[in-house]
Amino acid sequence: MTTLFISDLHLDQNRPDICAQFEAFLQGPATQAEALYILGDLFEAWIGDDDDNPVGQSVACGLANLAEHGIPTYFMPGNRDFLLGDEFLATARCTRLTEPTIIDLYGQRVLLLHGDSLCLDDHEYMAFRTMVRDPAWQAGFLAKPLVERRAMARQARLVSQSNTAEKPADIMDVNAGAVEAVMVEHGVSLLLHGHTHRPNIHTLKLPTGPATRIVLGDWYHQGSALRWNAEGFELQALPRGWTGGPL
Ligand code: MN
Repeated sequence: MTTLFISDLHLDQNRPDICAQFEAFLQGPATQAEALYILGDLFEAWIGDDDDNPVGQSVACGLANLAEHGIPTYFMPGNRDFLLGDEFLATARCTRLTEPTIIDLYGQRVLLLHGDSLCLDDHEYMAFRTMVRDPAWQAGFLAKPLVERRAMARQARLVSQSNTAEKPADIMDVNAGAVEAVMVEHGVSLLLHGHTHRPNIHTLKLPTGPATRIVLGDWYHQGSALRWNAEGFELQALPRGWTGGPL
């Protein structure tokens, strides 16, 4: 049996191609999996479970359908969908993972993160992260009328797009010291995260020994999934038209 990991789909009603591929993924490969882990940024934005956007509703249906077939799903919030609440997860029959989470995968301990907490060199983003992860800020935001929350999310997206365009690429990647620190702190030699949209498998040397950092890809131009079974893992790019047959 295989455990599947995905992140950074950035599902949005303006991107029906991504939504359709994810639906096909849920109805295809995911039905053969032992479990499905979603490591954040499933949605491009999440402004509250009371938002009636059709994408959220269809994703909840798709995930609940997997649960119906005995396949557990797990969700760790990203920097876009950290406001996704228990009401949505209950409808989706999906289990929330707090960050960081360590799982035992076929006898190996694996540390799971979304990845944004490792991007210490982006000081501007880290300050924003501290603000929006504050429970008081979140409660205040969620108490605003939907129309106001939608406008704020639109504005935040515009600011983020222009910031991202201006920043040097390496500022937005993980900080090597942060990677080492979190892996040593948790005593793991395997780290799996998304967020940077730089799918890759990095080998590194920790003071405690050799280690591996696996980075999931985004779904902007194709899908990306990590398949992990007793024999090992494989990072796969999923072409847009592919619906689950042999690659
Ligand atoms: Mn992210």
